[in-house]
Amino acid sequence: MTRARSAISFEFYPPKTPEQHAQLERAVARLKTHAPRFVSVTFGAGGSTLSYTPDTVRALRAAHGLDAVPHLSCMGGTRAEIAALLAQYREIGCTRVVALRGDLPSGMAATGDFRYAADLVRFIRGQPGCAFHITVAAYPETHPQADDAHADVRHFAAKVAAGADSAITQYFFNADAYFHFVEDARRAGVDVPIVPGVMPVSNFAQLRRFSEQCGAEIPRWIVRRMQAYGDDTASIRSFAADVVAGMCRRLLDGGAPELHFYTLNLSRPTEAVLERLR
Ligand SMILES: Cc1cc2nc3c(=O)[nH]c(=O)nc-3n(C[C@H](O)[C@H](O)[C@H](O)COP(=O)(O)OP(=O)(O)OC[C@H]3O[C@@H](n4cnc5c(N)ncnc54)[C@H](O)[C@@H]3O)c2cc1C
Repeated sequence: MTRARSAISFEFYPPKTPEQHAQLERAVARLKTHAPRFVSVTFGAGGSTLSYTPDTVRALRAAHGLDAVPHLSCMGGTRAEIAALLAQYREIGCTRVVALRGDLPSGMAATGDFRYAADLVRFIRGQPGCAFHITVAAYPETHPQADDAHADVRHFAAKVAAGADSAITQYFFNADAYFHFVEDARRAGVDVPIVPGVMPVSNFAQLRRFSEQCGAEIPRWIVRRMQAYGDDTASIRSFAADVVAGMCRRLLDGGAPELHFYTLNLSRPTEAVLERLR
C-alpha cells in the first residue's frame, strides 16, 4: 500500500446456493492473506436474508478467524427482531455492526419500527450494556433520495450524533467528491473516521446498471474508454484496476483513514487493485 499502515477491510454478501458458498470460500481464502482489519457481511432488507447474515458471520469467524462484522438494516424490521439479532451477534463475539436503513425490495410495503438509520443507531446505543462499535453509511455523491446534498450531510451528522463511531461511504470514482464530503461533514461537527468504500470493477455492464440505482457516477472518460475496449475483458479489467488504484492512492495521500473494498465475493478485481497499491 502507499502507506504501510493503511488498514483495509472487505465486504462480502451472504451466500445462499452451494455455488455461491464455493465462490465465497475461494474469495475469502485468497483475500484473507491481505490481513483485513475486519470483513463485513451485508444484510438483505425486508428480512429476506435474516438468517443468512448471522450464519455467514459465524462461519467467517469460526472457519477463517476473521473479525466478521454484520450489516444490520432496519427497513421492515421490528425492535424485537433487531434486539434478538444483536443478542445473537454479541453471543458470537461481534463487537462491531454496520447499521443501515436498507432499501425495500420492489413491491414490498414499508413496515417496521424504524424509519431512518439514525433511529436504528439510537436503538442499538440504547441497548443495556451496548459496547458495539457502530458504523454507518455515508454518500459523497449524495444519497439518491435526499432532498439535497446539504440535507444529506445533516442526516449523516444526525446518525453520528445518535451514537455512530465511524462511517463507510458508498463507492464513487471521483476522489474530489470524497474530499468535499469529508470537509462538509467536519463543518457539520462530524469527527468520526469516514472510510472510502471502493468498488473494484469486474463486470462493467453490471456496474453501470448498479451505479444508476445507487447514484454513483461513472465519469464519462472512464465509460468511453471501457466502451472502446469492446469485448477485450483483459484490457477492461487492467484499465479499471489502474483507475481504481490511482484513486485509492489519491484518497490515502489526501488523508483517507483506510479503505473498504466491495468485493462482490470475488478476489481477483480487489487483488488487482491491491497489487497496484504496493
Ligand atoms: C457502506 C454501505 C453498506 C451498505 N450495506 C447494505 C446492506 O447490507 N443491506 C442493504 O439493504 N443496504 C445496504 N446499503 C445500502 C443502504 O441501505 C441504502 O443506500 C439505503 O437507501 C440508505 O441507507 P442509510 O443507512 O444510508 O439510510 P439513512 O441514513 O436513513 O438515509 C436514507 C435517506 O433518508 C434521508 N434521511 C435521513 N434522515 C432523514 C430525516 N430525518 N428526514 C428526512 N430525510 C432523512 C437521507 O438523506 C437519505 O436520503 C449499504 C450502503 C453503504 C454505503
